[in-house]
Amino acid sequence: MRTPLIAGNWKMNGDLALIDEFADALGAAALPQGVQVALALPFPYLSAARERLPATVLLGAQTLNPAESGAFTGEVAGSMLKDVGMTLVLVGHSERRSLYGEDDAAVLARVNAALASGLTPVLCIGEALEEREAGESERVVLGQLEAVFSELSAEARARLVVAYEPVWAIGTGRTASPEQAQAMHAAIRARLGEWSASLADAMQLLYGGSMKAANAAELLAQPDIDGGLVGGASLQVDEFLAICQSA
Ligand code: PGA
Repeated sequence: MRTPLIAGNWKMNGDLALIDEFADALGAAALPQGVQVALALPFPYLSAARERLPATVLLGAQTLNPAESGAFTGEVAGSMLKDVGMTLVLVGHSERRSLYGEDDAAVLARVNAALASGLTPVLCIGEALEEREAGESERVVLGQLEAVFSELSAEARARLVVAYEPVWAIGTGRTASPEQAQAMHAAIRARLGEWSASLADAMQLLYGGSMKAANAAELLAQPDIDGGLVGGASLQVDEFLAICQSA
C-alpha cells in the first residue's frame, strides 16, 4: 500500500506569523498516523520553517535552478535546499511552465538537479482547458510524464512523486470530479507500468487543483489518488489539517 501524502504549496504567500501558526497547530494537533504531510514554502522561510515545524512535517521549495552553483543571480541550487533541511521540491508546476517559460527540457533539468542533490522532485503535470476541450488531456499529460521519465534511469524514476494538476482546476475553485481525476491517475499509473510494474505500484500520485476540506475525502477515496497538492487551502491551518485528516 502507498503512503498518502498531503503537500501544501503556499506559492508566493505566507509569512513568519503563518509559519508560527502552523507550528503551533501541527505540533499540538497530532498529525494523522500513516499520512505524510509536507509544505512547499517560499525560499526566505525555509530555514525558519525547518526550525519551527515538527520534524514529521516534510519541507521543500517550489522550484530550483538546474545548475550546481555559479553566476546565476537570484537563483537557488538544490544543494542549498538540502543544506537547510529540505526533503522535496516542486518541479514543473503549471505556473512555472506558463509564467516562466519552463518547457519539458527545463523541467527535466530541474528533476535531475533535485535528484543529484538528494531531494524528492514532485513532478507536476496537467492539461490546459483548451486541451481538455479538444480531447487532448491524456496525450498532453502523458507527454509531460514521458518527457521526464523516459530520460531517467529505473533507479531515478522510483525517487519521484507525480502530481496531476489540471490547469483549469488550479486556483479556480473548479475541481476535477473524482471520476475525471481517477481516470487520469489510472492512465498515468498504466503508463508508469509500461516502464515497470513495481514503479507503477509504488508511485505516489497526487491530485492538485482546488482541493479543499469539503472535496478532499471523495478525491482521496479514489484508488489511484494517493494524496493532494494543495494551494489556496494550504494557507489556512484548519483547512489544511482537515485535508490531512481525510487522507
Ligand atoms: P489550488 O492550487 O489548490 O489553489 O488550486 C494547487 C496548486 O497550484 O498546486
